[in-house]
Amino acid sequence: MCFKYKNNQLYCENTLVRDIVYKENTPLFIYSRKAIINNYNKLKKAFSKLSTLICYSVKCNSNIYVLKLLSKEGAGFDIVSGGELFRVIRAGSKTANVVYAGVGKSTKEIIYALNHGILMFTVESESELERINAMAQKLNTTANVAVRVNPDVDPKTHRYITTGKKETKFGLDIKRAKAAYQWAMMLPCVKPIGVHMHIGSQILSAKPYAEAIDKMAPLINELKDMGVPLEYFDIGGGIGIVYKDENPVSPEEFGELLVPRLKPLGLKIIIEPGRYIVGNAGILVTKVEYIKQSGDKTFVIVDAAMNDLIRPSLYTAYHDIIPLKKSKNRSKKILDIVGPICESGDFLAKDREITMPDEGDFLAVKSAGAYSFSMASNYNSRVRPAETLVSGGSYQIIRRRETWDDLLKQESVSVREYVL
Ligand SMILES: *Cc1c(COP(=O)(O)O)cnc(C)c1O
Repeated sequence: MCFKYKNNQLYCENTLVRDIVYKENTPLFIYSRKAIINNYNKLKKAFSKLSTLICYSVKCNSNIYVLKLLSKEGAGFDIVSGGELFRVIRAGSKTANVVYAGVGKSTKEIIYALNHGILMFTVESESELERINAMAQKLNTTANVAVRVNPDVDPKTHRYITTGKKETKFGLDIKRAKAAYQWAMMLPCVKPIGVHMHIGSQILSAKPYAEAIDKMAPLINELKDMGVPLEYFDIGGGIGIVYKDENPVSPEEFGELLVPRLKPLGLKIIIEPGRYIVGNAGILVTKVEYIKQSGDKTFVIVDAAMNDLIRPSLYTAYHDIIPLKKSKNRSKKILDIVGPICESGDFLAKDREITMPDEGDFLAVKSAGAYSFSMASNYNSRVRPAETLVSGGSYQIIRRRETWDDLLKQESVSVREYVL
């Protein structure tokens, strides 16, 4: 991994994390360029026996520099909004490798995507199919689509990030999907070129994917017999990573189980990894401001909060927390690590056994490359942290720390009244 200790000090690649922190202050996101690129290439290699396009899922870390980096490696992108498409375009990437998912695409977003010639929309309802057809007709073009099929498998992950069971809002069940393809074949301005699924996130085993593919294969063959011009099978994202003591499937094992199942289908494969590419490639560094005792609890109050990293508050997600500098002769204690925000739900760790830090020490929250900065907010009028990217022995700022002025940019003191 690209974060490790040398002489009891934490390094990112060949850069001493403390040195970046002294310059850029905390809270601070630090990503490893090498980790991002290695992860991408490992997955690509595992599927090299098939014609495969890896579409990085923009929502999990949408920094434009990260997009640029992956685009240069040859990645396409999985987007869920017009704003994400805007980022991909501004990153200088090819829109021809963009797949667009999401249950609520607006008319404006559909037109924007059609005008930029994306690879395909993954359609989540019959009404959406009709809207895309109508917009394509208006623009005198044809929209490539895939229907998002909900294969009803249990990926055994958190219920908020389960998306491929029938009680979730995503996709259409297999029976309805078949009807949707029949409908798409009748519409003049949509061309169903793909089949899509995305069964959830932080999935640790390849088995739920295999199970889903086994359920989808008969549908795909049936669609082909019906004359649907299928070219792509998009198997979604969701590959899990280590946060604590998980044992996630390696890309090699993932490929070994899935490639033999996918090959006979004769389609190009799309994979939409997000967390797997960047999750372990980032940390959030925070400073211990105060330590206090309340009842029989010890609270370590740090300068990062739920507005910077909401996963613990939102999903009671576990993030490993380690010191930038390991010190001997310190005892372990059970601590709550909390932020300054006025909410009891504002914590980074609860009842965590960890080496007792001192006030002024720096801590690194691990696995903070995915769904971390991209979910950050300005709650409590806190500025969002800077993001930095390390490459070997140097780093660059890929998003500057916000300022208090940034907080007020969209607001006005003198309000104009509109008479209706
Ligand atoms: C969020 C999302 C992904 C990425 O999920 P990860 O768990 O980060 O790999 C892929 N595809 C779709 C449609 C998504 O919504």
